[in-house]
Amino acid sequence: MMIPFSPPHIDDKIIDEVIAALRSGWITTGPRTKSFEQKLCEFCGVSRVLAVSSASAGLELMLHWFGVQPGDEVIVPAYTYTATAEVVIHCGAKPVMVDVRPDFLISVEEIKRAITPRTKVIIPVDIAGYPCDYDEIMALVNDPAVKAMFQPNNDIQRQLGRPMVMADAAHSLGACYKGKRAGVLSDITVFSFHAVKNLTTAEGGAICLNMPAPFDADALYKMLCTYSLHGQSKDALAKTQIGNWRYDVLEAGYKCNMTDIAAALGLIEIERYDSQILKRRKEIFDAYTLAFAQDERFQIPEYETAEKCTSYHVYALRLAHATEAQRDETMQSIFAQEVSVNVHFIPLPMLTAYKSRGYKIEDYPVTYDNYSREISLPVYYNLTDEQVAQVIKAVQQAAL
Ligand SMILES: *Cc1c(COP(=O)(O)O)cnc(C)c1O
Repeated sequence: MMIPFSPPHIDDKIIDEVIAALRSGWITTGPRTKSFEQKLCEFCGVSRVLAVSSASAGLELMLHWFGVQPGDEVIVPAYTYTATAEVVIHCGAKPVMVDVRPDFLISVEEIKRAITPRTKVIIPVDIAGYPCDYDEIMALVNDPAVKAMFQPNNDIQRQLGRPMVMADAAHSLGACYKGKRAGVLSDITVFSFHAVKNLTTAEGGAICLNMPAPFDADALYKMLCTYSLHGQSKDALAKTQIGNWRYDVLEAGYKCNMTDIAAALGLIEIERYDSQILKRRKEIFDAYTLAFAQDERFQIPEYETAEKCTSYHVYALRLAHATEAQRDETMQSIFAQEVSVNVHFIPLPMLTAYKSRGYKIEDYPVTYDNYSREISLPVYYNLTDEQVAQVIKAVQQAAL
């Protein structure tokens, strides 16, 4: 039987909680969403989290909040999923792509070279769940020379006085960096709870608010609750209070709130995320590393150091010596042994939407090298030891 790549973890506890949400009479944003937000705050050590309908919606909402507009630039890695860059295009701004390092993470040196007076936001991506070098990135945006270059065009930008750092943490819930968890490592951090992610609500996302003073997390949270719900002064729950029907619309907002049905899945998953989900994912990562580390045909990913730990989202194995075509052949031979594998990701400059905007993969040599040799192996809670052994065997037999 085919080993799938990343099936969702749905058991009776989750099904029961979803049924309870359905039976409760309240299915959109309400008590379960608020409770899930609170659990995420506690988990990440951040004071305010807004749950939203997807990471993409969360990233875009925050770009709009910050006032990113035509003429602005947002720095993103070339090696990421399209969501990171498409949200910039939706604002009419320009994604400025930079190369990554052999560990798949955005190069701080390359960010430094890419900053211009038009740079409004930097979006580092914690690829595979491994956190970027946030201390270096935050030091860079706080550098007096970078601050002097920054050209604010609204009050929020003036208050911050430098480019905003918004982590695309779609992969990295639970990752750590110097004793802190993803969520507090940058100004804004956005998680994804899409069906293939470590923790899923089917579709969903969360925005961690960690803006420095004088920004106030409570006030920002309140504002964003409205902004993510049409800009309407009262949410649906508040309007159900007897007689409380009149509302105002404060501005032309967006619609990307999380539903209580989705939050029901999240509430169950967050409770066991550390003790069960991450624990099992680490066991699988370690089994792969044990199998491939001493074999010179492979290059194993870096995922734990004294300063960092991954969320064990993607095991990004690389073939040590292979062209893109040889990697593709190896993958077909793994598929033929009934094991699903994947590639994370096809670099943005290789995709039509970005090629047609003038981006060229030749400008991102490390990105291309990482991509051309990469094969992502299955990692999920229900993957058994026997299946892990089957994956290892298939990869060993397929590799050149
Ligand atoms: C999945 C993913 C996203 C988008 O998440 P959604 O919740 O599906 O919007 C963004 N960035 C990266 C790197 C992703 O892998």
